Amino acid sequence: MRRFMAVAVWMALCAPVWAWHPVGHRIIAAMAYDQLSGKTRARVDELIRRHPDYAKFTEGVKGNARQTARWAFIHAAAWGDDIKGDSRFYDDTRRDAKPTRTLPPFPDMRRHTNWHYVNVYFSPDGVRLPKSPVPSAKTELPKMIAGLEGELGWYHLVWLLHVEGDVHQPLHCTARLTNHLLDRSGKPASDLGGNLVVVDGYTNLHTVWDDLLGVTRDEVYIDWMAKRLKKEHRKPAELSLDPNVWIEEGSAVAQMKAYVMPAGVGTRENPFRRTPAYEAESLAVAHQRAALAAYRLAAVLSSKLP
Ligand SMILES: [Zn+2]
Repeated sequence: MRRFMAVAVWMALCAPVWAWHPVGHRIIAAMAYDQLSGKTRARVDELIRRHPDYAKFTEGVKGNARQTARWAFIHAAAWGDDIKGDSRFYDDTRRDAKPTRTLPPFPDMRRHTNWHYVNVYFSPDGVRLPKSPVPSAKTELPKMIAGLEGELGWYHLVWLLHVEGDVHQPLHCTARLTNHLLDRSGKPASDLGGNLVVVDGYTNLHTVWDDLLGVTRDEVYIDWMAKRLKKEHRKPAELSLDPNVWIEEGSAVAQMKAYVMPAGVGTRENPFRRTPAYEAESLAVAHQRAALAAYRLAAVLSSKLP
């Protein structure tokens, strides 16, 4: 029984998760929305209203029309993850994928689970690096931005809100290859953005970073955190609107700040152990990335939907 439990726990640890906790997405969206001009706000509000799941975005929201529009935007930011458990949609990345019926106006019912990240590989112990798989956040973000003004603007906007946030979680921008994590054929295997790096024996590196912005869904917390991030991090004078820059930065930050361990650390036998210094620094980095994500999101929306 104990052995079975160990395996079950291990499998739960392995289940790849690819996202800030929904709370992280909402905090970034709240901070971004509050920086938009009245004109841009009106345009994004209009696009969100056209989304077929608008009723879900506003479920339980109390307040006047302005507050409702704001919370619809905030809730829409987690839609990319919400549909992972939605039977109208199917996981197109599975080999046995069974397409579900297309429900207009959705262009397709794919969950696009590979849009949330990009595996820019690195190896601390000299493993030969394969090319990054496509599609990925890197190939799709430019299409989402370009699509804002088109017929499917509502679709592209809601994906952009999500994936722009995702790539500011550093572990969405890289994956580690070492001679200590091997696939069935004995070749070095991707650690799936830190999902397979064991931390403190009970969690993994990706989840640790996903949860750094908090896991409290309370609206008061989301607003408080959005304000706090704005105070902690002033708007930079220059804001890059190029997703390639966001991703390159994210990979570098992940390698310097998240994977601060030798190649052999992060296995079941030899888990990575967080120190108080690591905890403090990772928290500071997550705040900095989230604030930057919000400033950049607001800047992209303001430039495309003036
Ligand atoms: Zn995601």
